[in-house]
Amino acid sequence: MTMQWPDWLPLRTDLASLSPYGAPQVPSQAAMNTNENPFPPSPQLQVAIAEKLAQVSSTLNRYPDRDAIALRTSLANFINELSKSSFDHGSIWAANGSNEIIQSIFLAFSGGSALGFTPSYSMHPLISKVTSVQWVDGARNRDLTFNIDLAIVQVKELKPRLTFITTPNNPTGDAISIADIERLAMAVSSIGGLLIVDEAYAEFSQELSAVTLIDSNPHLIVIRTMSKAFAFAGARVGYLVAHPRVIDAMTLVRLPYHLSALTQSAAVVALEFRKELLATVATLVSERERVVTALHSFGLHTIPSSANFVLFSGFGQSAPQLWQAMLDKGILIRDVGLSGYLRVTIGNVAENNLFLEKLQEIQNETSQS
Ligand SMILES: *Cc1c(COP(=O)(O)O)cnc(C)c1O
Repeated sequence: MTMQWPDWLPLRTDLASLSPYGAPQVPSQAAMNTNENPFPPSPQLQVAIAEKLAQVSSTLNRYPDRDAIALRTSLANFINELSKSSFDHGSIWAANGSNEIIQSIFLAFSGGSALGFTPSYSMHPLISKVTSVQWVDGARNRDLTFNIDLAIVQVKELKPRLTFITTPNNPTGDAISIADIERLAMAVSSIGGLLIVDEAYAEFSQELSAVTLIDSNPHLIVIRTMSKAFAFAGARVGYLVAHPRVIDAMTLVRLPYHLSALTQSAAVVALEFRKELLATVATLVSERERVVTALHSFGLHTIPSSANFVLFSGFGQSAPQLWQAMLDKGILIRDVGLSGYLRVTIGNVAENNLFLEKLQEIQNETSQS
């Protein structure tokens, strides 16, 4: 759906054919379409954030810490705890969601093309276009899983300035092993590029984080977010882990005081509650396995997922048709624009039951008609 633009508006011609990003935000009984964590902050965390924000409010006449040192230190400690690494704030950059991180990467390191292996996170190509960087859709296996040998061939042929991988990948859910990421990093290094590893769903995966490769691969940037496993999407906090010179480059393209004092302090408090917040991960992973088993029992096919969502196929109607039929029954899932596939975010037990119940109803109705 392309928008019509009036003649008097001097819109950049390369933007005129784009559509704004966005999953439909429509009322539903179960919102299972944007890979959020279904569990809200505990009453204790709500109180702790409210108290902290009340305190910060007394200084809102002043600009926030431009360099967000306290938050970046907390994030470094969190990553070190997960990956047994030893980063300090000099290896971390934080912004309003990892989407702003992605934008800053494009702003700082363009001057060549960018390659990603699609289907993957749709904001990588969209931000590439908005920042006037030529984007190339790389190939994956026919079953949509990642193919390391094919990826290395494409990197060597195209020689992109920026190579993006997402692991676990959105929307397919498959994860890339640390050994394969290292092989890709070597190929990217040999052509003088940067490898960007989007780990938005890393906490749900058993694989080692690519942050463990940064010491020996300074051209590797790892993107993380508090929006998914960390259950903090509404606060908008994303970050990257990289060589300190990458962080220095981020300070050239960030807007001054880009991260509000409210956001910074709320995120520091949430990181103090990390044990409690990440406790939901085990529940979501076991719910994911339960949903996958049920989908298989309905005769549907899934791609093995290491994330908090599942891409499924094999239903006897088009993806937009099933998407609408589910919404008519109150369940909002995601049509990611892949013919024959739909993506469902794992919710709480009640939401997953509702999803499975309504899906089975529709499957029975269509097989009878
Ligand atoms: C959800 C998602 C993000 C965006 O997260 P924010 O931090 O909320 O901007 C980034 N990358 C991938 C692959 C995602 O699925």
